[in-house]
Amino acid sequence: MPVGLPPSLLKLSEQLRRLPGAGPRSAERMALALVRSHNAWPKDLATAILEAQARVKLCPRCGFYAEGEELCDICRDTSRDSTTLCVVETANDVLPIERAGIYRGLYHCLGGKISPLDGIGPEHLRIGSLLERVESGVGEVIVALGNDVEGETTSIFLSGHLPTHLRISRLAQGLPMGGSIEIADSLTLGKAMENRLSLR
Ligand SMILES: [Zn+2]
Repeated sequence: MPVGLPPSLLKLSEQLRRLPGAGPRSAERMALALVRSHNAWPKDLATAILEAQARVKLCPRCGFYAEGEELCDICRDTSRDSTTLCVVETANDVLPIERAGIYRGLYHCLGGKISPLDGIGPEHLRIGSLLERVESGVGEVIVALGNDVEGETTSIFLSGHLPTHLRISRLAQGLPMGGSIEIADSLTLGKAMENRLSLR
């Protein structure tokens, strides 16, 4: 129901509503908070958005978020176990696994899942770079893809194409069916990682 707000305020509110988790009321509250602010915060916010958008790229090695052309913080952390790679669908999937706090290896983000119906084949994903990466000192690959059809297809493809000397495991069941890693809670994810199952 329109409540007669000025057009520029409505426009701002509509833009904020595009944010994940923002509903019409919360977008309206955020818009009002911004336009009624008497300090530099709205300008700082706008600058921070533009700066982050311009600077944040995907790590050239693992595909997680990084600044500029640099490797990400996880790849640069020499205390991590570089012999284990956890394969996830997107960079966002790294966050819940990191929050669960039980994994100290490195990651490889595929940038999607194999989905013949959507025309997404292995050649559209970062699978070639994964196959190259495992050649240098990697002993185990943990496949942490969602347990939907595309996740299963991708897991099967990987277990058929990764070198035979590698140990390959997948997260244990317990994650919601069809659910993505991104929405799993830390406890479930931690248990699924701990009790991972051999894929071949
Ligand atoms: Zn990285």
